[in-house]
Amino acid sequence: MKIIVCVKQVPDTSGKVAVNPDGTLNRASMAAITNPDDLNAVEAALVLKEQTGAEIIVVSMGPPPAEGMLREVMARGVDRAILVSAREFGGSDTYATSQILAAAIDTIGVEKDDIVMCGRQAIDGDTAQVGPQIAEKLGLPQVSYAAEITKDGDTITVKRMLEDGYMTIKVKTPCLITCIKELNTPRYMSVGGVFECYSKPYEIFDYNTLKDHRFIDKDTIGLSGSPTNILTSFTPPQKGAGMMLEGADKATCEKLAGIMAAKHMI
Ligand SMILES: Cc1cc2nc3c(=O)[nH]c(=O)nc-3n(C[C@H](O)[C@H](O)[C@H](O)COP(=O)(O)OP(=O)(O)OC[C@H]3O[C@@H](n4cnc5c(N)ncnc54)[C@H](O)[C@@H]3O)c2cc1C
Repeated sequence: MKIIVCVKQVPDTSGKVAVNPDGTLNRASMAAITNPDDLNAVEAALVLKEQTGAEIIVVSMGPPPAEGMLREVMARGVDRAILVSAREFGGSDTYATSQILAAAIDTIGVEKDDIVMCGRQAIDGDTAQVGPQIAEKLGLPQVSYAAEITKDGDTITVKRMLEDGYMTIKVKTPCLITCIKELNTPRYMSVGGVFECYSKPYEIFDYNTLKDHRFIDKDTIGLSGSPTNILTSFTPPQKGAGMMLEGADKATCEKLAGIMAAKHMI
């Protein structure tokens, strides 16, 4: 059994976010971190490895410095890492990104007992499209927003988080699951893991590795293969301070109704 986890290196947007004059993110000025939801996916894979002995392979598409992030997840207990990296892949939108990652995962091979895991969402792109798109391309059943995962033979039970509650879904392997932060608390690297991570298998899938795959074509990858284009991007203006009304008495309610009526909200 294999668990293939997609991890993305993202700029740390929890601090000051720097924006270039053209509106794009100034990634060079921000620290690079592992996308938080992806660490939850790695942790879920490590728990399943403890239960089943599965092999965990992480896959990331990005520039060569992403190796540091991949070594770090190997220090947490991941067995093998693959960096998908080539000039031809640059400028990819979510469609092209999932096309390339699906080709990489298909090249690794998805067999009957295997699970593909992603984070729900990357904190820079924020689209939550890549996981579901990979599943569609590989013809895998998918369950998103996993807050709890249990495995019994080839059946995986996933508790999905919804806006107003939970939904429990049973799915057979092979399948793709996207993970959210409520799923678990990611473990730290162990000292032994840090020593071992540099002797674990680390591979690069470049353009030549994937160019003959049926998903890879100049019309489906990179800037030219991306059906969406960013026309403009901007930081929304700060909202003004809100108004607080306290109390549930008649006078407060009438005041609230008056304010809302004046703004044509009621
Ligand atoms: C119109 C458009 C144009 C873009 N142009 C560029 C560009 O020119 N250059 C550029 O660098 N970026 C570009 N991007 C951003 C790039 O497409 C996204 O970073 C990428 O597609 C992932 O989308 P996301 O961040 O929304 O991921 P989400 O869909 O939110 O990610 C969900 C999950 O998918 C997996 N995942 C996502 N991306 C990767 C990855 N790279 N490796 C491994 N796993 C991953 C992770 O598990 C992640 O948690 C563009 C995006 C759009 C929408």
